Amino acid sequence: MTRPSEGMREAMATAEVGDDVYGEDPTVNRLQERVAGLLGKDAGLFVPSGVMANQLALAACTRPGDEVIVEQSSHIFNYESGAPALLSGVQLHPLDGDRGRLGPEQVAAAARPPADVMPRTRLVCAENTANKAGGVVYRLEWLQSLARAARKADLRLHLDGARLWNAAEATGTPLADFAASFDTAWVALSKGLGAPVGSVLCGPADTVAEARRLRKAFGGGMRQAGVLAAAGLYAIEHHRAGLGRDHARARRLAEVLAELPAFEIDPEAVETNIVIFETTGADDAASVVDTLDGEGVRMTVFGPRTVRAALHRDVSEAGFERAVSVLREHFG
Ligand SMILES: *Cc1c(COP(=O)(O)O)cnc(C)c1O
Repeated sequence: MTRPSEGMREAMATAEVGDDVYGEDPTVNRLQERVAGLLGKDAGLFVPSGVMANQLALAACTRPGDEVIVEQSSHIFNYESGAPALLSGVQLHPLDGDRGRLGPEQVAAAARPPADVMPRTRLVCAENTANKAGGVVYRLEWLQSLARAARKADLRLHLDGARLWNAAEATGTPLADFAASFDTAWVALSKGLGAPVGSVLCGPADTVAEARRLRKAFGGGMRQAGVLAAAGLYAIEHHRAGLGRDHARARRLAEVLAELPAFEIDPEAVETNIVIFETTGADDAASVVDTLDGEGVRMTVFGPRTVRAALHRDVSEAGFERAVSVLREHFG
């Protein structure tokens, strides 16, 4: 929903560029180093999308026939077009976690023993924040015990950090501390940070080198991509500060929704920029979203009686207040 800001467009227009397939784009190289530094990893790789970041990590860390443990509400399991089977020939093992979060015992129990008849469990993927569960944060201690359980079972770990910026904002935990438990981790520049394109996948130098080769094979090699990387660098410097306001508004929206008889939500459960609520009255999710759309307030149908709202930097103060009054007017 976000559009590039004025300053971002300026940074894109004046970016220094080269051919990134040859590793010669100075702005792409700067972005990769910057994000690898923030995540405390050896190397970074600029990719066109979060899906590609996830799929490159899966491809680089598995062999066909392997199994990958994910949470049942995860993006990898639900919203990546079957890519793990299509591109890497792996099978996903979805577990029903706690609001999108995998438990250490649950992973230990799911890791298969070596046996000719079984798939080889190879990798565990966590998502922080957990989108479909409502932007839920995995706390650092939780991730650390998850990682201990995975290592004990000889599994590698991958972090889908599309919204890791939000987890860091909400907890004060540095990005690198969150990423430390994982072999590979990525962050999105195009979600809350508001860049038009891109994510950066980080990890050990050899894994990132393999991901780079695979990125070319998947059709993600880009040429003068510095114009896009410049938007990402700008977003990191100038747009991160807005995440706290998104979180405060999400909480306020949840409090407003909780007061309306047509909806059910626990405002305490809203930790970041995502607000997921249930419809309890005559209106199902589709009709609520339709009514709001007619008033210029956009939300997403997330289930028959479930609606998702996402707060972001392009929502103006007036726009936010208008959303609140439209909700009260129609559903009060
Ligand atoms: C959006 C998202 C992705 C995919 O990112 P794209 O850039 O849209 O491909 C992956 N994981 C999570 C949790 C997401 O929210």
